[in-house]
Amino acid sequence: MGRLAIPYLAHDGHPLTIRFRCLEDHDHRAYWHGKYNTLKDDPPRLYGVEAIHAAGDEIHVTEGELDAITLRRLGLHAVGVPGAALWQPRHRRMLAGFSRVWVWGDPDEAGAELVTRVCKSLRTARGVRLRDGDVTETYKAGGADALLSLIDEASKTK
Ligand SMILES: [Zn+2]
Repeated sequence: MGRLAIPYLAHDGHPLTIRFRCLEDHDHRAYWHGKYNTLKDDPPRLYGVEAIHAAGDEIHVTEGELDAITLRRLGLHAVGVPGAALWQPRHRRMLAGFSRVWVWGDPDEAGAELVTRVCKSLRTARGVRLRDGDVTETYKAGGADALLSLIDEASKTK
């Protein structure tokens, strides 16, 4: 079965955990797993915490690991929340030192909920409004400019 392994590394590079994304185009539930699969009893973690140490004043929070990887291709520092519902109060502390935290929720209800939750816990957080799909889909359709113009737009809203 096709699985993409997504390693979670600490800032010194040692592995914290690993998640798997099923690459099969089937109904995952019929095979007794989800699209994303985690090691048993592993607590929800932010993906890519090394970005926290590498970033300057600003950092990006995405919904999902792959969107964080996409933003990194633009040279941005990004961490991923593995799912909209998995933002934890303790993650707030990890991002408290930034003057601006950009939050990229998918353009659906769960994504809006993620943006709301992060913005409630961090007053430096601002939602970036995706309209035509998630970060990676927007990148595929419109390239880096499409994403950068959304940041620009978000920076002009209160
Ligand atoms: Zn599957």
